[in-house]
Amino acid sequence: MSTEHMHDPDIWFSDGNIVLRAEQTLFRVYRGILCRASPIFRDMLHIGHSQSCNPADTYEECPLVVMAGDSAVDMRTFLRTLHDSSIFQMKLPSVDEIPQIVSVLRLSTKYDVSYLRRPAIEVLQAWYPTALSNFEALGSNTSLGLSHHIMVANVARQAFASVLLPSALLLCATKARDSYELYDGISRTDGLHVELLPENKRSIFIGRPQLEYAGRTRTFSFFYSADPRGPGCANRGHGNRKCADWCKDISWESVLQKDHLLDPFFPFFEVARSFVVSSCCRVCSSSWEAQNRAGVEMLWKELPSIFDLQPWSVLQSTTDNLTVDPSPLTH
Ligand SMILES: [Zn+2]
Repeated sequence: MSTEHMHDPDIWFSDGNIVLRAEQTLFRVYRGILCRASPIFRDMLHIGHSQSCNPADTYEECPLVVMAGDSAVDMRTFLRTLHDSSIFQMKLPSVDEIPQIVSVLRLSTKYDVSYLRRPAIEVLQAWYPTALSNFEALGSNTSLGLSHHIMVANVARQAFASVLLPSALLLCATKARDSYELYDGISRTDGLHVELLPENKRSIFIGRPQLEYAGRTRTFSFFYSADPRGPGCANRGHGNRKCADWCKDISWESVLQKDHLLDPFFPFFEVARSFVVSSCCRVCSSSWEAQNRAGVEMLWKELPSIFDLQPWSVLQSTTDNLTVDPSPLTH
């Protein structure tokens, strides 16, 4: 055993009876707990039936199993959660907990631990919901950053939790500062480089122009119309173009746009309703808000297709009824 390998400071039970190695880190745990939780572990650790568990590989008299393809970070969180699932007690996880839940989702899928996979998806859905009302309730003040959106979009692909994809991809597409971040990835303050998987880059490449177009032609079309005034506009007298001109003059683009992308879901009326009402007549302001609302609701239904995904209902059922062989998760 090379001295480069280190005991994990947390997941090292001195009376454990099996040692797992992920990257350079060793974890000493209980074979019975692993086998009870996971049919994959059950097969893998069954003495005499596994090449992975060669009795010649031992560490401190315990069988040593190399977990090829698993990161130490993922394995640490996964093993901790196998022994204590209190991570799932909270309804809305804190920002710091998102990477841990991502780790649990990845490995609980790979090792077929459904009692951890299901709550991991549910907890992530609190931040990456399927219902528009839940998405809007999170508001634009979410403390999650682009690195979280990328991590969740990637694990949604890797762990077949595709129900998380539309909102995670939407947040990637609209919260990135520029296209470089979406293509090259970003480096977190902890030094970790996070980058979208190729299939997620493809979805965003396909989806971003459609989001922009939907903003210009549907949810915010009044800003792009030659005369957006409603039929009963109070400001229609001779030379009175107050409502029409307001749409032209306001510097709303700096609010709505980022990297020249118009976010069709930007909660404009939540932010600026009183300003609109005080600047324009009641007829125009309410007709624009109704138009925005109808556009947003319709667009949310179409969101999966914008990213070249199956409809919401299919994403939900394939996530709930995972029957595929999770072996592609092996890197
Ligand atoms: Zn008007």
